[in-house]
Amino acid sequence: MKKKSPWWLAWLWGLNLTVAGGLLVALLLFDKLPQDLAGAVTSAPKTPVTQTPANPNTTATPFSAPTATRPPISTAAPPTVTPTPTRLPYGEGPITIGFSVGGRPLQVFKFGNGPKVRMVVAGIHGGYEWNTIALADEMIAYLAGQPHLIPDDVTLYILRSLNPDGEARSQDENGRVNNNGVDLNRNWPASTWVSDWDRANCWNQTETTSGTHPGSEPETVALMLFLSIHKPQALISYHSAALGIFPGGTPPDPASVRLAELLSGAVPYPYPPLDIGCEYTGTLADWAAEHGIAAVDMELNNHQDTDFDINLRALQVLIDWEE
Ligand SMILES: [Zn+2]
Repeated sequence: MKKKSPWWLAWLWGLNLTVAGGLLVALLLFDKLPQDLAGAVTSAPKTPVTQTPANPNTTATPFSAPTATRPPISTAAPPTVTPTPTRLPYGEGPITIGFSVGGRPLQVFKFGNGPKVRMVVAGIHGGYEWNTIALADEMIAYLAGQPHLIPDDVTLYILRSLNPDGEARSQDENGRVNNNGVDLNRNWPASTWVSDWDRANCWNQTETTSGTHPGSEPETVALMLFLSIHKPQALISYHSAALGIFPGGTPPDPASVRLAELLSGAVPYPYPPLDIGCEYTGTLADWAAEHGIAAVDMELNNHQDTDFDINLRALQVLIDWEE
């Protein structure tokens, strides 16, 4: 005689099938997660899924200038970039040159096509210095409408934010480091890199490191590669606030000192920079100076204003730079 299955056995099988079906759906959905989220789930993605290749030469897209927005410091929202479809024969961007720890794109805008190469870097200290990113966005939007400002023999690159994770995190002290807690302006494989330093007169509001080793961070590596390929002769890395103009190199690199002097003739920022007793190590400007680029760290007046008119004059000095 055939024994009838008890009711709970059928119920158990039903449950099994439901769970298995659910798992299958979840697996299919995970495959379609946006890169940001996938990056967050798996922590640092080694090779971003997004299609942009690493070689910036092959990533040129029709130019679309961002609209610079200066959000009030009280809101948590980072400066937003709204691409305006302005196609210009002399400009390209955004060109994605790499990705942050959190999988956010590092975006460069290019103006002109000449052999003299100049570079502006903003936002290395993320949301804490968000006004440098707002300044870069204002410059990009302005230059898009002023092609005559870029001479035929010049190419100008503007990297609007080297630390988009910090930019997205907050507009206060907590927005300074990248997603690995690293100060990106201490992570460069310059001769000045150190694993630790005296914090007494330096940044000590939040915990930071200089990375597990020189050049440990994807943001650093992406820009290092870009600079190695495009070989600018002069570079400004923007910070805030108020300490002045710091030439790269220890001892200061002569070409970088000359750039700092020329800039100090055009802008009101202190030069020599204010000495607060902090030792700066492994900076972008140090690395650049050691690789033949005249480079300065330059600080805006405060943490809110972009000092736009002042920095149009700085841009002119950068464009006019002669080796
Ligand atoms: Zn800074």
